[in-house]
Amino acid sequence: MKILVVNSGSSSVKYQFIDMDGEKVLCKGLAERIGISGSRLIHKLDTKKLVLDREMKDHEQALKLILETLTDKEWGVIKDLSEISAVGHRVVHGAERFASSVLIDEEVLKALEENSHLAPLHNPPNIMGILATQKILPNTPGVAVFDTAFHQSMPEKAFIYAIPYRFYQEHRIRRYGFHGTSHRYVSKRAAEILNRDYSNFKVITCHLGNGASISAIMNGRSVDTSMGFTPLEGLVMGTRCGDIDPAIVVYMQESLNMNLKEVYNVLNKESGVLGISQLSSDMRDIEEAAESGNKAAKMALEIYIYRIAKYIGAYTAAMNGVDAIVFTAGIGENSPIVRERVCDYLGYLSVKIDKEKNNSRSKEAIISTPDSKVAVLVVSTNEELVIARDTKEIIEKGLKELNLF
Ligand code: ADP
Repeated sequence: MKILVVNSGSSSVKYQFIDMDGEKVLCKGLAERIGISGSRLIHKLDTKKLVLDREMKDHEQALKLILETLTDKEWGVIKDLSEISAVGHRVVHGAERFASSVLIDEEVLKALEENSHLAPLHNPPNIMGILATQKILPNTPGVAVFDTAFHQSMPEKAFIYAIPYRFYQEHRIRRYGFHGTSHRYVSKRAAEILNRDYSNFKVITCHLGNGASISAIMNGRSVDTSMGFTPLEGLVMGTRCGDIDPAIVVYMQESLNMNLKEVYNVLNKESGVLGISQLSSDMRDIEEAAESGNKAAKMALEIYIYRIAKYIGAYTAAMNGVDAIVFTAGIGENSPIVRERVCDYLGYLSVKIDKEKNNSRSKEAIISTPDSKVAVLVVSTNEELVIARDTKEIIEKGLKELNLF
C-alpha cells in the first residue's frame, strides 16, 4: 500500500509518499509560496533534488503539480495516480470531536469547518488541501490525523481553565494541546527502545522546534501538555511567549495603547527567544551568540531552559514520578547544550547524562548513564510516518468491514 502524506499550510504544501511495505519514503517535497510570487516546488528523490519554479495560485494547483511530479518519467515513483492507495492529511485542530484519526467524509469535513474558528491560521489551509486532493483524486480515500487528538485523553483537572465554567460549556474554551502526533510517536518509541511496556510507563516528552510543547504521558495516554487553547501557551518558543500573566494583554491595550491585533502579533511573532535576545528566533544563532558572550542571547537561552525544567518538575508531580524524558524536534534532536542544561536541573530526580552520548549525533539514543534513575533519550520525531500508519490502519479496517481485504 502506497500512501501520500499531505501537510497543507497557508502558503505551502509538504508531502511524503510512503510505501507501507517496509515503510520506505519513496520521495518527498514541498510546494512553497503558494498564492504569492516566486512559488516553487522542491521535490526530493533519493539524493537528487528537483526545483521547479512554477506559478501556483492555490492549493489545487500545488497538489496538481505534486501529483504530476509523482508520475513524472524522470522524477516520479509511480506510473499512474491509481497507485496511490490513500491520502493522509495532517489537520491541526480536531477539537473535542476527534480523539483519533478518521476517514474523511462529508460529515467530517463539515465538523472540520465548524472547528476552524479554534485554529483560524491552520485549519482553513488544512481543509483547502483536503478539498483540492478530493477534486484531483475523487476516488482515493483520505484520512485526517489531528495534532490535538492524542491529548483528548487529558483529565478535566488538566484541561479546564480556572475561568467561569460557562466559557467551557458555551464556547469550548479549554486546553487542547498540539504536536500530539509527535508526542505519541516519540513516547511509544522510547518505550520500545527501553524495552518497557508502553501501558505501564511514565514519560515526559519535550518537542522543541520553532513551536515547542511538553507532555506528560502515563500508560500510553497524554495526561497533560503545555500548549493550551492555542499553541501560544507553555514553553518559551522561537517567537511565541508561552506562559505569561494574562493581565499583560490588558495592560498593553489599556496603558500602552496597543490594539488587540498588535498585542497578538507581539506575543506570537515578536516574543520568545527572539523577543528576549532581540537577535534571532533560531536556536543555532542564539547558542552561537551566547557562546561568544552576548548577554541577551545568554539570558534567552537560560530562560528557555529554565521553563522546560520547571515543566518537567510539574509533570513529574502530575504523574507521581517519571521513568523517562525524551527530547525531540529541531532543538531537542540537535542541541546537546539545551539537553544537558535542562538535565542539570534534574539532580533531585537522580538524572545523570553521559556527555559523550549526549554529544553524539544519532537519530535515536539513550543519553543517560546506566545508573541514572530516569532514562533520558533523544528520539527523532516522524509525524509523517504516524499519519501514514494511521491512514493505512483506517483504510484496511474499512476494507475489512466491506469484506474486501
Ligand atoms: P518546526 O517547528 O518549524 O518544525 P523544527 O523542528 O525544524 O521546527 O526546529 C527548528 C529549530 O531547531 C530552530 O530553532 C533551529 O535553530 C533548531 N535547530 C536545528 N538544528 C540545530 C542545531 N544543530 N543546534 C541547535 N538548534 C538547532
